[in-house]
Amino acid sequence: METVKPIIAGEVVRLSPLVRRVTAPNPGMMTGPGTNTYIVGNDVLAVIDPGPVSEPHFDRIRELVGDRLRWILCTHTHLDHSPGARALQAATHAQTIGMPAPPHGSQDVSFFPDRIFKHGDVIEGGDFTLRGIHTPGHASNHLCFLLEPEKLLFTGDHIMQGSTVVITPPDGDMIEYLQSLDSLLALDVVRVAPGHGHPIETPHEEARRLIAHRLKREQKIIAAFSGRNPATIDELVPVAYADTSPKLHPVARRSLHAHLIKLERDGQVRQVGEHWTLRS
Ligand SMILES: [Zn+2]
Repeated sequence: METVKPIIAGEVVRLSPLVRRVTAPNPGMMTGPGTNTYIVGNDVLAVIDPGPVSEPHFDRIRELVGDRLRWILCTHTHLDHSPGARALQAATHAQTIGMPAPPHGSQDVSFFPDRIFKHGDVIEGGDFTLRGIHTPGHASNHLCFLLEPEKLLFTGDHIMQGSTVVITPPDGDMIEYLQSLDSLLALDVVRVAPGHGHPIETPHEEARRLIAHRLKREQKIIAAFSGRNPATIDELVPVAYADTSPKLHPVARRSLHAHLIKLERDGQVRQVGEHWTLRS
């Protein structure tokens, strides 16, 4: 079996004729080996997700793009993805592209793109085109970018490799997340380049697997009401996430909340104060 080389911060990896990856030195529970920054093109260049504010990472990107950078695209405005845009833009005068930060949650409000991308918007480089695909769910302003000549999809935190995407209400939305995963099934893609982790070579299977995983978790949440109805989120977490390390429960709590909001909209649960009731 082919062994996958571990991801090392600062190391440049060529993924395809048009794409190089360099990972920021911000590994962690939420970021896996760190945030992936992608450099697209060979003539004029685009950077996708400049990452957090980090001097070594900034220096590395600068070195790689020289004076050829035209666009800085951000998949969303969480603090591990877009804050690096500011210094990079100041140094290169490249155009920033994405959707501005929504007012709630821990967002990078310093990111206000020169060009606000809408679903379907395109940039044309010399040897590539990148198309924006609006994929709300992990964040309401989340975009994936489709590199059309290679059928490669940059998925930011919509699809990650090696860890589960956290859906944090109110900006995170489980119904939208599932719909956005479903919408990827209609795209002609052969490869995913995620915001964290290694490329995924089976995009449609992965989207289907993720949808199935969430729906299975939803069933575990419904089952967790057995013997405790109504229940608080804190009572439900250890039961619904019994298969997950307790260290992850504070994070799982947010996704569980997102599931409950979905179930409430589906008419299956009702919230009164801190308590959630499963309807019979
Ligand atoms: Zn991230």
